[in-house]
Amino acid sequence: MFGKSMTQFGSKISATIELAHDLIFPKKCLGCHKFDNFICNDCLEAISVKNNFCCPVCNREMVLPRVCAECAHESELDGLWIVSDYNDELAKQAIHLIKYNYCDEVSEIWNKLIAKYFFQERFWLDDALLLPVPLHRRRYLERGFNQSMIICEIINRIKGNAISDRIIKRKSYGRHQATLDFSERKNNIVGCFQMVVNTDCQKEPGKVIILVDDVYTTGATMAECARTLKMAGFGKIYGFAMARG
Ligand SMILES: [Zn+2]
Ligand SMILES: [Zn+2]
Repeated sequence: MFGKSMTQFGSKISATIELAHDLIFPKKCLGCHKFDNFICNDCLEAISVKNNFCCPVCNREMVLPRVCAECAHESELDGLWIVSDYNDELAKQAIHLIKYNYCDEVSEIWNKLIAKYFFQERFWLDDALLLPVPLHRRRYLERGFNQSMIICEIINRIKGNAISDRIIKRKSYGRHQATLDFSERKNNIVGCFQMVVNTDCQKEPGKVIILVDDVYTTGATMAECARTLKMAGFGKIYGFAMARG
């Protein structure tokens, strides 16, 4: 009796919290600002998703998720999946939402966008292991979540790939990549990642890995992760990002 009334009391509290949250952060479409959904079907339809691939280094269009022959010798990434176009204003807004830490909105919009992308994607590697590009612990504590992990979880729900966030870690904080130019980014990131010893995955060096991040800009961060993994004996390393910035 007491237990039941406490449960009812608890569910009333959570309903009240939910109502308060909805009043403060009402569900409103990112595109047309209609209430009730974080992204409406019309606006989702309007966001373009990519149906081709590009070389991770020179951005040349590719038929398959591969690095082009000319860049193969200088690329640690073997191929790249990009969901959407950063020049698409709505896609850009959806990607920037992460900065405001509204996780429900971000996952709902990204979930729909990634599902739309995979609906027409034909070359995905179902057995590859997803690896979120690690945040430094300090950055993680500031933000409270790793946006790359949110993307991994969405891919896992849609495609079933396993996730491991315990293979490499970011050992140095570094300067914010966004404030640096291309060569500074490369120098800033070298040596920032480190293998985590004694993970189960290191027993499977042949495992194909897909590194996951929100935005792929110069590719310096992913390339450094890939270099660290390849030095530890991993074979093919690919990348996946929401957009190429
Ligand atoms: Zn809309
Ligand atoms: Zn190339």
